[in-house]
Amino acid sequence: MKLILLGPPGVGKGTQAARLKKHFKIIHLSTGEILRGEMANSSSVGIQARQYIDAGNLVPDEILLKMMNNRLREKDCAGGYILDGFPRTIPQAEGLQILLDEINHELNAVISITANQDELVRRLVLRAKDSGRSDDTESVIQERQRVYWDQTAPLIHFYKEKNILKSVDGLGAIQDITDRILGVV
Ligand code: ADP
Repeated sequence: MKLILLGPPGVGKGTQAARLKKHFKIIHLSTGEILRGEMANSSSVGIQARQYIDAGNLVPDEILLKMMNNRLREKDCAGGYILDGFPRTIPQAEGLQILLDEINHELNAVISITANQDELVRRLVLRAKDSGRSDDTESVIQERQRVYWDQTAPLIHFYKEKNILKSVDGLGAIQDITDRILGVV
């Protein structure tokens, strides 16, 4: 099973990815987590990424594409994965498509999880209290939402045209949302 989870910050992609990972016994690749790991290690990718992440902006496409190009070619990806936080721009989606064709991987579905914006900001502000993330301040949270609508939301149309988009309502109990996702894949 090869899935992309798409949705604004705070919609619960990480929570649902953890459950789908168990259900399908596949790996969960969160580019946010990978980048935070790179920053913690002060690797060259981490050092380059920090200024963008702390401002709530996207890390440049070339960095993400190179990182995911290496990652998706690794052996543990052959059995399936959930991409969480990637692709986040049209050029990333196009780059991913070229890569998947090269390695003969086919996506089963792109799940777009939806929720209203006020609820998302409320959730993120609550989460910020104990997340320890340097990008979880109210002004950066607002900026991350803006960037989502501006740069990532166009992917909904991109994948709809490829006939692999499935939309799922992200409001409600965690298990209900998991069931909705399992119902569409
Ligand atoms: P959230 O979805 O809660 O905003 P993530 O953990 O997915 O957070 O990502 C945190 C930050 O990492 C983003 O705001 C962005 O700066 C960077 N990032 C993660 N994935 C990508 C990506 N595919 N392209 C560019 N930047 C990314």
